[in-house]
Amino acid sequence: MQRRIIRALLRCLSGLALVAAGLYGAGEPGPSPRSVLIFSGHMANPTNGPDTRGAASFKGRLEYEFNDAITALLAQPSNQIPGVTYELVPATSNMSLKARVAYANQRQPGLYLEIHHDSAQPDDLAKARSEGVGSERWLQMRGFSVHYSERSARARQSETFAGLLGTEMIVRGGVPNLYHADREGMRCTDRKRAIYDRIPPHGLFVLYQIKSPCVVLECGTLANPQEEIELSTVERQRLIVAAINQAIQKFFGSTE
Ligand SMILES: [Zn+2]
Repeated sequence: MQRRIIRALLRCLSGLALVAAGLYGAGEPGPSPRSVLIFSGHMANPTNGPDTRGAASFKGRLEYEFNDAITALLAQPSNQIPGVTYELVPATSNMSLKARVAYANQRQPGLYLEIHHDSAQPDDLAKARSEGVGSERWLQMRGFSVHYSERSARARQSETFAGLLGTEMIVRGGVPNLYHADREGMRCTDRKRAIYDRIPPHGLFVLYQIKSPCVVLECGTLANPQEEIELSTVERQRLIVAAINQAIQKFFGSTE
């Protein structure tokens, strides 16, 4: 079970990567308290170690493409909160997991956010797939989740932002992902908003290492056939972006 979970984590949540080439909006020297550094999860062309292209969707598309769709929207100035400095790093910039952490700690943003999309355990996926798109098993493998860690340097602020983001996702029709708690045994601190505290054995490298308040958002579950269709639409992507922005605005308002 534990090896299975570790493999799943490597596949999705810890393949957290990026590099300097292709940054959106970089250039100003940090730190800035009203700044957010947003990384698209995974790498378009990983070369080694835990870096991957992320989870596969029901139809076989790769996660990093979905993550980049969200960061591309957030890179548009019209989609940014006035007075907040955004720096967006797409997966196509191919920054490794270690490089991502080093870069974030050099930039010292007021908030670090990483964008991901979710999957499930291979055996559960195989059973659901064998039963077809109408299988009730998909009801256990769906939804969004928000991840912070009590092991983070800024655990309290990270938890605060996670709560704000979870609320904004729910407000916009998001379904909380409880699979990680009920099937994988992760520590869920708020089932209504799908907030998870990533502590051993489910720790995340970036959440342990980054010194700024830091959160990972799983926007939804790509492995679920119906949800993949929804997550592929600009309408759903814009709702996710709106949730992120509203949470950012409230977070910086609360920390002024
Ligand atoms: Zn991922």
